[in-house]
Amino acid sequence: MPGSDEILDRYSEECPLTREEAVTILNTPDDHLRELVRKAGELRRKYKGNKVSVQLLTNVRSGNCSQDCAYCAQSCRSEADIEKYRSIPDEKLYADNRTVNEKHLARHCIGLSGISFTDNEISELADRIREMKKSGTHICCSIGFLTEKQARMLRDAGLDRINHNLNTSRRYYPNICSTHTCEQRIENIRMLRRVGFEICCGGIIGMGETVEDAADMLLDIREISPESVPINFLLPIKGTRLAEQEPPKLTAEYCTKVLCLARLMMPKADIRCAAGREVYFAGREETLFGIVDSIFAAGYLTAGGQGIDDTLRLIASLGYDGKIESTGG
Ligand code: SF4
Repeated sequence: MPGSDEILDRYSEECPLTREEAVTILNTPDDHLRELVRKAGELRRKYKGNKVSVQLLTNVRSGNCSQDCAYCAQSCRSEADIEKYRSIPDEKLYADNRTVNEKHLARHCIGLSGISFTDNEISELADRIREMKKSGTHICCSIGFLTEKQARMLRDAGLDRINHNLNTSRRYYPNICSTHTCEQRIENIRMLRRVGFEICCGGIIGMGETVEDAADMLLDIREISPESVPINFLLPIKGTRLAEQEPPKLTAEYCTKVLCLARLMMPKADIRCAAGREVYFAGREETLFGIVDSIFAAGYLTAGGQGIDDTLRLIASLGYDGKIESTGG
């Protein structure tokens, strides 16, 4: 079996990596990491230039979800100390949307906890999306399982993209969630694609899965061919099941290999370093932005993050451009 150097030498975009090759890349010895980062960097520059897409995330509905996802502070099984609400006030949502435009960020991501929604709830959400689309914002919505009718209601309101993560491999999924399956997620994404949405689909690394599981998840994501691939590195939240189980700790090197593999497998996609960036890549931002072209600013759903201005300054100081000129404002 060839090693990671040999796989990189013969890498071609026309010849997708096999499962074995993907696993080998994730097992790259740490002292060979530089070559891997260089290869991923070539693809990043080829397709993304020096752009970094910065997203702002607003949690429109928080907590009380019926599902038992082991990492999630919003699950009703979690005892995490988070704010819970059914719907964020219009003023806060629209103020965040104005910030996206004023700061020339790439996108406004809105998240709703919960797995299913009534048509009335979707109709109300569609009205809010319609309002925000008046200023030309590119909007992505992270939401549970929609019916096709509901997906069309959001599409008609102008919603551009939907985030639905696979989170882990099909094999490992039952260890993480017992209330729905990975296949249900994949089916939902297929329907969203048919309806015409751009797809954002990624996962979480560090939940106790094997290297093979991480590779399998990325292979499934590659099948979906999403426009955007957010990779989260677990930050266990006190009160969630995973925080009690204390899965093995991640290293910055392994996190780097996962992002490089995502870039090699989906060179044209937005590869986003989502949760965990400020922890696992602290002091390694130059390497990070050489691989990924997308990050969140100012927090994740239930965990804080770096402020927007600090994030934009950091991006500029490394020679990248974090402002999207086409966004309103
Ligand atoms: S990840 Fe989504 S579906 Fe799972 S518990 Fe959290 S809000 Fe619910």
